[in-house]
Amino acid sequence: MEQTTSQPWQASQSSDLYGIERWGNDYFGLSADGNVTAKTLNTEVALLDIVKGMVDRDLQMPVLLRVENILDAQIKRLNQAFANAIERVGYSNSYRGVYPIKVNQQAQVVEEIAAFGERYGHGLEVGSKPEMIVALSTLTKPGSLIICNGYKDQEFIDLGLQATRLGFDCFFVIETPSELPIIVERSRVLGVRPNIGIRIKMISQVSGHWNSTSGDRSIFGLTATQLVEVVDSLREEQMLDCLKLMHCHLGSQIPSLSDIGNGVIEACRYYIDLVREGAALSHIDFGGGLAVDYTGAASCDNQSRNYSLDDYCQALVETVKLTLDAEGIAHPRIVTESGRAVVAYASVLLFNILDTTTFESTGQVVAQPGENPLLSQLRGVVENLSEETIEQSYEDVHRYRKQIRDGFQQGTVDLRCRAMAENIFLDTLHSIAALLDNLEQIPPLVADLKLSLADIYYGNFSLFQSLPDIWAIDQLFPIMPIHRLDEEPTRQAVLADITCDCDGKIDNFIGSAAASKTLPLHPLEVGEEYYLGVFLVGAYQETLGDLHNLFGDTNVVSVRLNRDGSFDFVKEIHGDTIADVLSYVEYQPRQVELNYRNTVERALQEGRINVAERQQMIKAFKASMQGYTYYERED
Ligand SMILES: *Cc1c(COP(=O)(O)O)cnc(C)c1O
Repeated sequence: MEQTTSQPWQASQSSDLYGIERWGNDYFGLSADGNVTAKTLNTEVALLDIVKGMVDRDLQMPVLLRVENILDAQIKRLNQAFANAIERVGYSNSYRGVYPIKVNQQAQVVEEIAAFGERYGHGLEVGSKPEMIVALSTLTKPGSLIICNGYKDQEFIDLGLQATRLGFDCFFVIETPSELPIIVERSRVLGVRPNIGIRIKMISQVSGHWNSTSGDRSIFGLTATQLVEVVDSLREEQMLDCLKLMHCHLGSQIPSLSDIGNGVIEACRYYIDLVREGAALSHIDFGGGLAVDYTGAASCDNQSRNYSLDDYCQALVETVKLTLDAEGIAHPRIVTESGRAVVAYASVLLFNILDTTTFESTGQVVAQPGENPLLSQLRGVVENLSEETIEQSYEDVHRYRKQIRDGFQQGTVDLRCRAMAENIFLDTLHSIAALLDNLEQIPPLVADLKLSLADIYYGNFSLFQSLPDIWAIDQLFPIMPIHRLDEEPTRQAVLADITCDCDGKIDNFIGSAAASKTLPLHPLEVGEEYYLGVFLVGAYQETLGDLHNLFGDTNVVSVRLNRDGSFDFVKEIHGDTIADVLSYVEYQPRQVELNYRNTVERALQEGRINVAERQQMIKAFKASMQGYTYYERED
């Protein structure tokens, strides 16, 4: 056989393999020396350099990295894309964005969005009283939009009416008819004319995971009959002039642009008729739904999207214009509540690999004189292996191994023979797996063969704490090593986290063409850390997570890139200590320490340890209580 001399692996091959250009949205790239970089302001910084800065600051893995400029850049792109579409289409009103706090409520994120977004008048969307309080303490500019969704009690409404008095453009979006009397009454009592919005129940169905947000059985919004009732009540109260906003929300992560277009048309029909009913509508709010292309496939798949940001803006603006122009209705201000698309890109979960398990033979497969004849049968399988006999060989090797395992069970096969059999078995499976790459179609029998041979890489993170949507809704996020990308990743692996839960694993990856059950990775190097990043995790992951196994919040670092290619650590938050997480589940850290102290004291009295050992034990325990919940490397 002729051996082709293979070219050394190039970083560009890694780029293709992990699809970073496809999902990175120009915020992440690969340098020629094999590092993932964060890119903004025409400069790029290697994530590994940021990790080195973390190590110097004693911020251990796992760390949630936030790149503030990426947050800024997304807000800018969103507002500019709408401004461009408005200009292109000749739309005669403006765009206003609001950020829905529920998508990432962390103070650093909301404050950054409010501060940077101020130049665009970017406001906030709130769905609860705590979120309302956040909005009131974060926004400073009069005229900023506050959109109040969710079920609102008197206290919530009072906060909103005061916000109006303070100069904010605060809208109560009526989600159920029972809210209206409270709004009417409280605005009388407080002497404030309220801004009222109305949420319509959309019939347009969309594909994607969140499609139950619309349709007859949607739990949100008013039906046509309820709309009529609300309009009549407002007219009776002489408050129809307060009804200024119409709201709809088709769901999150809508992959198909034509679904969005249909929803917009439906919304416009409601808008037209509400105007004709006499409502003083001036705002049309399309909610969220702008999707993130997690897989980079640019398709209608649930985890992707078949449109660009510009396409989205164009579709909204143009459809509203055409539909309203045909009826001679003035153009309203367009509002959207994009959350996911604004915050997803800015956060990366970084963690190190602690260990691996491989499923390979550990040597010892050569025939020994006088060995059990079953072994030579087993060895014979690989000799007859070809692309045509894959299924036969796969069955044979399992049958012979079963005979040997049965023999071991009955005492006719010894431990060494059994061990050799397991090695031959694994070698044979690897030989079969190697042939699969040449096949157009993988026989069903061996469909999961590669997965069953994949390495397990143990990562220093908790899926339940940091990536809850992988567990809950099979969300895909791009995952890849952040360095060594100028080296060929020769292993195929699945990831396990450090919880003791068999669900704490990741075995579904975006793959280079289609979803893949394994991730290509590099073998670990002795004495060197191997770092992976999970990308696009800024939306919905941070507070849905839980304390499974009492792994707490991770360390969080915010960086800001500078034009000269340097970067600053702008904020560092140390994650939960063990004492923190214990107190979340109602232990009292002082009592926990006291209990341990008593146990140690008893051991001392019983002569099991001496006084010096007692001191040492108590000191170490106290240090643990103040330590990180994740695996810590000793320096
Ligand atoms: C969750 C939610 C959003 C955010 O949706 P994204 O798809 O993340 O942009 C917007 N508006 C409402 C009413 C929501 O419930």
